[in-house]
Amino acid sequence: MAKSDFTSIGEFVNTALRNLAGGFDLPEGPAYKMPGTERIHSVLAETAARMADNYPYFHPLYAGQMLKPPHPVAHAAYAMAMTVNPNNHALDGGRASSAMELEAVSEIAGIFGWQQFLGHLTSGGTFANLEALWVAGKTAPGKRIAASSQAHYTHSRISAVLGLGCIEIPADHRGRMDIAALESTLQQSDIGTVVVTLGTTSLGAVDSLAEVLKLRERHGFRVHVDAAYGGYFTLAQNLHPEARRHFDAAGMADSIVIDPHKHGLQPYGCGCVLFRDPAVGRFYKHDSPYTYFTSAQLHLGEISLECSRAGASAVALWATQRLLPLVPGGEFAQGLEAGREAALELHKRLQASPLALAPLQPELDIVVWAIQGNSVEESSARARATFEEAARQNLHLALVQMPISIFGEGVWNDSDAKGSSGVVTCLRSVLMKPEHRPWMDDIWSRLESAMSAAAANVGQ
Ligand SMILES: *Cc1c(COP(=O)(O)O)cnc(C)c1O
Repeated sequence: MAKSDFTSIGEFVNTALRNLAGGFDLPEGPAYKMPGTERIHSVLAETAARMADNYPYFHPLYAGQMLKPPHPVAHAAYAMAMTVNPNNHALDGGRASSAMELEAVSEIAGIFGWQQFLGHLTSGGTFANLEALWVAGKTAPGKRIAASSQAHYTHSRISAVLGLGCIEIPADHRGRMDIAALESTLQQSDIGTVVVTLGTTSLGAVDSLAEVLKLRERHGFRVHVDAAYGGYFTLAQNLHPEARRHFDAAGMADSIVIDPHKHGLQPYGCGCVLFRDPAVGRFYKHDSPYTYFTSAQLHLGEISLECSRAGASAVALWATQRLLPLVPGGEFAQGLEAGREAALELHKRLQASPLALAPLQPELDIVVWAIQGNSVEESSARARATFEEAARQNLHLALVQMPISIFGEGVWNDSDAKGSSGVVTCLRSVLMKPEHRPWMDDIWSRLESAMSAAAANVGQ
């Protein structure tokens, strides 16, 4: 997204609001008295000035953390819906937006091949995972959760909140759950649920879901797929066959979490949880004297732990999927493929560069690499210097601590590697925007010059 796109968004919002006003037939009468448009403009000018104190997340030269601008159609639909400000807790508070939520969520379930399921939107991936593990705990009382050391830290925290024991399974050098270690844990402990991550937050690693499902046949446990980050990649046609195999197995899971506010072009406040067995709805049962259930139809508040939720989130998601249907080969899927191509291209250039160490082939669209140095400390210092120098050149990356072991033996001399805390500071780039692909030459020339400057300025 470029700065010039801001103006188009403003125009879409205006048109959408005019159409919305036309949809209500209401008498004119005394209206809300604005405190003076000039004052509002001046406060908004001050607000905009404050907002400029941010990294430019919307721009392709922002290639650091997991931040992707909402699509203009999501932005405009959200802004329009917010005028009505529906609440998807109950149909009385959000009639149209609840219907749109059901439609949008069933399209998401459809990408995993699910027609009969239970699901809804949440405020984000954390709450969606909380509901999945809460249901897991209800179906297998007293049993424990197993999640890999590279799973999102939210799982161990949620397990603690729910009073469920959580066992950490080690990850292999590629950041995937170690299946042999999982198997021995299954033999020794009472595991009720295994959390499988399709697209880890730090590396975008894809756990071996197909193998976990085979273990399920023998040991009997629930499988929860955390695809908050990676879920939409099931639509991409350029995955490595190994990752493809695991994405293709996602429909066999018991529950899936996917975040429309990560890769689904939505503003924050939009996660999604899906259950393969609709009967888990019984756990949510409540008999609230406060909720105004005036309709016999299902209210989303009856199948959700959160009460008030922004109906505007559902409206934005519905409009986005209307414009960009969730189908392989479609424009939305092509956007994911472009990000992945950008990651593969960046990785190729890093591997060819004498300045970088990039042993990990990206599984999705996340690239992690170290900077060459004579010691772990020097590599780490050069990574920090590259990060700062790149930012001076308007290229925004991220820093991440990685275990030295992923780089193999003999990269840094042994005594030094042992003396360090076992981790090295690396650079990380999440190439989530379709424009990252055509911007790659520009990104690379800034990055290469930042890495050279770091090598020249930091060292013995
Ligand atoms: C981002 C993420 C979460 C947490 O989701 P939020 O939307 O940030 O609350 C959980 N799991 C994975 C794999 C994630 O990438």
